[in-house]
Amino acid sequence: MARIVMKFGGTSVGDIDRIKNVANRVKREVDAGNQVAVVLSAMSGVTNQLVAWCNQMAKLPDPREYDTVVATGEQVTIGLLAIGLQELGLEARSWCGWQIPIRSNGVHGKARIDSIDTARMSAAMAQGQVAVVAGFQAVGPDERISTLGRGGSDTSAVALAAALGADRCDIYTDVDGIYTTDPRIVAKARKLHRITYEEMLELASVGAKVLQTRSVEMAMKHRVRVQVLSSFEDKPGTLVCDEDEIVEKELVSGIAYSRDETKVTLTRVPDRPGVAASIFGPLADASVNVDMIVQNVSEDGRFTDLTFTVAHTDLERAREVLNAAQSSLGFERLSDDPDVVKVSVIGVGMRSHAGIAQKMFQTLAQEGINIQVISTSEIKISVLIAEKYTELALRALHTAYGLDAA
Ligand code: ASP
Ligand code: MG
Repeated sequence: MARIVMKFGGTSVGDIDRIKNVANRVKREVDAGNQVAVVLSAMSGVTNQLVAWCNQMAKLPDPREYDTVVATGEQVTIGLLAIGLQELGLEARSWCGWQIPIRSNGVHGKARIDSIDTARMSAAMAQGQVAVVAGFQAVGPDERISTLGRGGSDTSAVALAAALGADRCDIYTDVDGIYTTDPRIVAKARKLHRITYEEMLELASVGAKVLQTRSVEMAMKHRVRVQVLSSFEDKPGTLVCDEDEIVEKELVSGIAYSRDETKVTLTRVPDRPGVAASIFGPLADASVNVDMIVQNVSEDGRFTDLTFTVAHTDLERAREVLNAAQSSLGFERLSDDPDVVKVSVIGVGMRSHAGIAQKMFQTLAQEGINIQVISTSEIKISVLIAEKYTELALRALHTAYGLDAA
């Protein structure tokens, strides 16, 4: 007998028929002899509506009351599913975060899970009861409801799987797995059977928004085997797992992209020790997240150009901070270009193979695409290029690395 956690996202519980469909899927696992905990999101669109209502009440709503409101979507779906399971003749009950309890650090709106006391839930499960758990919710040290940030029910599911010592955590969603790249852009994108935690982490953070990034970090830390699969079709999904579990390792597993990049350039920055610190320090203080950075070698040893990227939403703040400090920083001009895209190739095989970056550069050169900024990590190479080349670059790279579906 296995213990499994099944998580269903907003579209999978988007209406009554879909919740009934979920009930049938859960029943199949129970009939197969498994102990099951189900984690649910709110119906699709509901959390957005709740957030909007809070923002209509006040410009800056009290974050504790914000959490009280936005956590309600999940309470509806868990109750409905428990009823649906009972209709199928199963024993089931709903659990809100505070009832389990799932304890968080209490940072409202983006809380982190500290601990989960599974004793009561576990006992009920061992007696054959299906536990239907509200995702997204926890209770903080202030004994009030806290939510885990948008998309947080993925993290609820993985955390619960870790705490329960579950054999599997199945994440049912509206896509049927993790692809080598975005199938809407590259028709020959392939579904991956397996992917390592580290690769998934890179893919999650560079644009493939299937799992909340934090849920993958948590899965990696606690070695939870996570399966991503469709709640509408019966076919195998993608297993996110340890590197040891992957026999046939590809050099490159996936190609991700992010259009949410703006390139910022400061020209004629005085080239002296401490200048990078004096620029990026204030940006960090203003919570501006800086991603790729290049500093040119100065020609005359006195001035240099500095280029970096920020998310679109951070651009205004970055401009304000830097312009306010222009005279002390001593740069000549700040310019920005939002029409750029970051394309990243990802693969654990890079650790042991040379030539992967070279192939990327060559492929882009053959297509006449200019690379503006390059950054690398152990398992990732990212380039910044003009946004209009996104499709061309993705397709060419996908072919070059042998990822195209047959
Ligand atoms: N309902 C929450 C949201 O929409 C949590 C989740 O679905 O993961 O962000
Ligand atoms: Mg989600």
